[in-house]
Amino acid sequence: MTQFTDLGLAKPILKALADKGYTQPTPIQAQAIPIVMKGRDLLGIAQTGTGKTAAFALPILHRLAEDRRPAPRRGFRCLVLSPTRELATQIADNFKAYAAHLGLSVATIFGGVKYGPQMRALAAGVDVVVATPGRLMDHLGEKSATLGGVEIFVLDEADQMLDLGFVVPIRKIASQLPKDRQNLFFSATMPSEIGKLAGELLKNPASVSITPQATTVERIDQSLIYIEAQRKRPLLAELLADRAVERSIVFTRTKRGADRVAKYLTAAGIEAASIHGDKTQGQRERALAAFKAGEVKALVATDIAARGIDVNDISHVFNYELPNVPEAYVHRIGRTARKGKDGVAISFCSDDERSLLKDIEKATRQKIPSFDRRNDKALAAAAAVADKLAPAEKYVDPRKADPRNNVPSELRRKRNRNGGQGKSAPGKGGQGGGQQAQGRGEGRNGGRGKGGGQAQGQGKAAAGGGGDFRGPKRGGVQQVETRWNPID
Ligand code: AMP
Repeated sequence: MTQFTDLGLAKPILKALADKGYTQPTPIQAQAIPIVMKGRDLLGIAQTGTGKTAAFALPILHRLAEDRRPAPRRGFRCLVLSPTRELATQIADNFKAYAAHLGLSVATIFGGVKYGPQMRALAAGVDVVVATPGRLMDHLGEKSATLGGVEIFVLDEADQMLDLGFVVPIRKIASQLPKDRQNLFFSATMPSEIGKLAGELLKNPASVSITPQATTVERIDQSLIYIEAQRKRPLLAELLADRAVERSIVFTRTKRGADRVAKYLTAAGIEAASIHGDKTQGQRERALAAFKAGEVKALVATDIAARGIDVNDISHVFNYELPNVPEAYVHRIGRTARKGKDGVAISFCSDDERSLLKDIEKATRQKIPSFDRRNDKALAAAAAVADKLAPAEKYVDPRKADPRNNVPSELRRKRNRNGGQGKSAPGKGGQGGGQQAQGRGEGRNGGRGKGGGQAQGQGKAAAGGGGDFRGPKRGGVQQVETRWNPID
């Protein structure tokens, strides 16, 4: 078995690894570190949980430390682009921990916070900058950042970048980078557009692939419940009332949906918070802190927001709505069963989501054990009250739901300033804008959910009445071969 000490990393890095108690590289680290140390471009297919951050952070720090030179003013030697603020913070924290004995500087650049401190951090030059594309573009526009000194460029979670509509900013950023540089490109999946982008950015790359596309993680107890769409909320409240649920993430497809579900749960007496791209940085941090501290039992999140959350003791994942893309199912359920723990993933499936379920089962090559809770009288009664408190959502065909609804507000504002996004995605900007407008209108109507007492009564009644669901039995799922499970 390879040890970190076998890889030729600088001593201060080995010391930082020892501080963290890491001795053995994960498979992606063992493969990627020697390649990156040699200065080669790399294409990595790996998802969060495989140890991919250290797979690029360690050899990058090694290279920067071996060839020390000051970064240019307002510039940086290494640029890491990340799709979300949470992930950017997490990556920067990793860099800082591994650089603890190296004396290299690390800064983050993302939206939702003031410009001033970021400008000051960049002024004298930084060794490593971890940035989201929107805010970095703003700094470049203001000339408070320059890309002329970048020696190593990392694009992380490229597929997620695509979903967020970041491909155009990425191309613009890449066009300003020095031609002579090292490129590292990571993506959990490789849809054709990502393959094309990788082809444009990388020069003769080595490639490492750790998680085959769309495999499910062992140790996760998966099940599925058929349920009427309008009865999902009371069903969720019922399941969350189970003491076995210690800490859970509830996935919705839209930001508005996340808010509505969190609001309903709170009214039903369950500690819940929502997290998504429209929340301010402060709100996101508070929600995450409360979740980590165990004060919040259910964190209701969109795929994008959840992707960057590194919380280990998540006992349950609920797919309140099935994702539009099957790969997202794998990402979602992978939030539980981390660090060697078991986990439970329960998905709700309403009639209009049958085709999404079919796609997921096909992609993951498994049949998820299912339960039928349709026509459940207790849930029907609870749903009737829930509807009065917060009217049911307008039906949006899940296949037509635009993932770019989740575009961070900072970028959307910028796009609006620039007169829409027609250039970046011809013909689609109007559709996205229309859905957002609809969202706002419904949000106002939905703001009536004040009758907390009544909702609580019903939520509990439903919980009592639905005692036949005891959660799925273990072992019923046909496992698919997984070459690497998230760290344990
Ligand atoms: P990542 O895939 O980069 O999000 O990493 C997943 C988790 O694994 C993080 O909490 C890391 O700190 C941890 N980790 C990374 N590398 C190792 C390693 N070699 N040994 C043990 N844990 C690790």
